[in-house]
Amino acid sequence: MLSPSSCWDGQNHEVDDLIDLHSHTYYSDGTSSPEELINNALSAQLEALSITDHDTFEGYEAAVPIANRTGLRLIRGIELSTRYNGASIHLLGYFMGEEPSEEFLSWLGQMQQTRRDRNQKLIDKLRQYGVEMTLEEVERKGRSLTGRPHFARVMVEKGYVPDMETAFREYLDESARAYVERQDPQLSQSIARLRQAGGIPSLAHPVRIFRNDYDKVDALIREMIPHGLTAIEAYHSDHKPADVRHYLEVANRYGLAVTGGSDFHGANKPRIQLGSGHAGNLAIPYQVLDDLMAAV
Ligand code: AMP
Ligand code: FE
Ligand code: FE
Ligand code: ZN
Repeated sequence: MLSPSSCWDGQNHEVDDLIDLHSHTYYSDGTSSPEELINNALSAQLEALSITDHDTFEGYEAAVPIANRTGLRLIRGIELSTRYNGASIHLLGYFMGEEPSEEFLSWLGQMQQTRRDRNQKLIDKLRQYGVEMTLEEVERKGRSLTGRPHFARVMVEKGYVPDMETAFREYLDESARAYVERQDPQLSQSIARLRQAGGIPSLAHPVRIFRNDYDKVDALIREMIPHGLTAIEAYHSDHKPADVRHYLEVANRYGLAVTGGSDFHGANKPRIQLGSGHAGNLAIPYQVLDDLMAAV
C-alpha cells in the first residue's frame, strides 16, 4: 500500500486518494441534485469534492448537511464569467475556511442580475432567427439560475436542433449567430474580489482561452499574478496530457498552485464523468488540495 501523508484537515490521506474540484449541480447548469452529486462522488470513491456552480452557492449550501453525514470533504466553490480584452474567461474561486463576506454575496447578486438581462436579450435574439421560446419556459429547466445549456435543452425539446451541441454551434456559442454578450466583470477585478472575500482564485480550463495559444495564455497569467491570481486549473476534462504537463509547468514556473476537476454537468455534458473526466482522462491526487491550502 502507498504510505499515508498528514495534511491540513488533520486526516491522513493515501497518495492515491482522488478529488474533483470542479462540478455543477442543478442550481446552476448541471442536472444533478446536491444529493445525487454527493452519491456520485462517493461511488467514484472521491475523498474531496468542490461544487463550483456558476454565480451561486445554493447547490453547495444544500449539499453541506448531506456531505456531513459521509466521509466526503466538501469545499465551497464558485465559477464566475469574466472578461479580459473582450474574451470570456472563467474564474474559479475556493473558500476553504471562512464564509464569503456579505459584500461578495451582494456582488454575486449583481452577477445574477446581468445574467437575467442577458437571458432576456437572448430570447429576443433567438426570435429574430425564428427560434421561439419564452423566458419562463427556459427558467423552468433550471432552479435559481438560468444558463445557456437550459436554452439548448428547450431548443432540442422543441425540435429546433437535433442536440445540444448543435444548439451551441449554430446559436449559442460565442461565435454563433444568436450570441449575446453579458455585462461581465473584468478578470482582474474578479480575482481581487475573490481574494478580498477570502477565496482562492484559480484560472478555469486554460485550454479554452485564446484557442489554447500557450504564449497568449502565458502572458495573461503573468499579468494576473499581481492582481492576486493564486492557482490555475491544470487538470480538466478538456485538457490533453500535453496540456496538463504544460500547465503544471507554467504553475511551477510562476509559483502558482494548481487545481483540477472534471467540470461535471450531468446530462448537460453526458460524456464527462465526475472524478474521472472524459473517457477516464482524469485522476487528481489529494495532494493538489493540500498544496492549494499551503498556497494561501
Ligand atoms: P452561461 O453561463 O449561461 O453563459 O452558459 C455557459 C455554460 O454553457 C458553460 O458553463 C457550459 O456549461 C455551457 N457551454 C458552453 N459552451 C458549450 C458547448 N459548446 N456545448 C455544451 N455546453 C456548453
Ligand atoms: Fe457550465
Ligand atoms: Fe467553465
Ligand atoms: Zn464549470
